[in-house]
Amino acid sequence: MERVIIIRYAEIHLKGKNRGFFEHVFANNLERSLRGIRHELHRTSGRWLIEKFEETRTEEIAERISKVFGVHSYSVGYLIGSSMEEIFEGAKLVAPHEGTFKVETHRAYKQYPLNSMEISAEIGGRLIETYPALRVDVHSPQHTVYVDVRENGSALVFCAFGEGAGGMPVGTSGKGLLLISGGIDSPVAGYMMAKRGMTVELLHFHSYPYTNEGAKEKVVSLAKILSPYTLVTRLTTVKVTKIQEEIHAKCAAELNVTLLRRFMFRIAERFAKEHGLQCLITGESLGQVASQTIEGLTSSNAVVSLPVLRPLVGFDKEEIILRSRKIGAYETSVLPFEDCCTVFLPEHPAIRPALSFIEEEEGKLNVQALVEEALATAEKIEF
Ligand code: ATP
Ligand code: MG
Repeated sequence: MERVIIIRYAEIHLKGKNRGFFEHVFANNLERSLRGIRHELHRTSGRWLIEKFEETRTEEIAERISKVFGVHSYSVGYLIGSSMEEIFEGAKLVAPHEGTFKVETHRAYKQYPLNSMEISAEIGGRLIETYPALRVDVHSPQHTVYVDVRENGSALVFCAFGEGAGGMPVGTSGKGLLLISGGIDSPVAGYMMAKRGMTVELLHFHSYPYTNEGAKEKVVSLAKILSPYTLVTRLTTVKVTKIQEEIHAKCAAELNVTLLRRFMFRIAERFAKEHGLQCLITGESLGQVASQTIEGLTSSNAVVSLPVLRPLVGFDKEEIILRSRKIGAYETSVLPFEDCCTVFLPEHPAIRPALSFIEEEEGKLNVQALVEEALATAEKIEF
């Protein structure tokens, strides 16, 4: 009798012609997430099975695969022979010892001597004899013991379903560059694009020495929290101190944030194009702060040609926080370190800056040189 983890996948079945490709990427992603844990991954009619793994690490495996996009649900169960004796032995191990239950059988092997109803009745009967505190309730049981009789003379039994992350396998929807701050929003934005199957690389801007090592470490922590989902284990940082000082010294104070954001976008686009990334991703949400008005978003878009994806654009802060908590990022995001956006923050940032005014102020700077200089500070952090 072998302990196994049964994995059911989510949206892959929608992709008719590309199904082979999706499944290939999905399997690869499962393998990557299980790196360092002995196991075998096998495909079986419409599902995947993890076999021959270190049983003491079952929970760790379950935790990791629950974060792989494309996983709809998973169950820890047993792979056994299909005789009634063996099915019963397996059922005993997964069944609850008290409360109400039913047995539900699926029989792919139609020549099996008993039909599904008969198998369920037989196994259910034997379970009650074994665990007298169990009671059958076929309509609304607290527990269901599932028996799956397969065509190759084996069977699967399991009882509980773990919730998967859903979505599509990362690597099936292109590549994007997430502008990641230490805040609540951008990690959630990255999570959401990865959930749609996008490979999400990370770029962070700091303004050392105004922002400190702690701020950088916080972003690395956030990147690590994201990595079981995105399967990306690197982050690039770029220093924008000089840009901020120049803006502060030469331009209208109320445009600080607007101008900095345009620099960030230019730098990010250059980086993205150099690394074969097809779009930028931000955590902006319409109207959330002064710079996130439609005018603000338009002024940033105006300096890049790549599409800018803003998966949170229509979300309330509460909705974003809920997702942040679900990902496990919230506690880290709210740690009190300064982000470069809060350095030189004007008292009254422009809410609806006119593009002509922005361009006039920006004209006081050597934009190209500042972008090049910043790009030269790029530092790759692998974790
Ligand atoms: P967040 O919670 O993601 O910081 P926010 O609501 O605080 O967002 P801003 O600080 O105005 O809003 O930032 C808007 C977006 O700009 C962020 O979601 C992020 O994508 C990008 N951004 C801001 N600061 C940085 C930074 N230091 N490095 C990289 N990207 C940044
Ligand atoms: Mg922020």
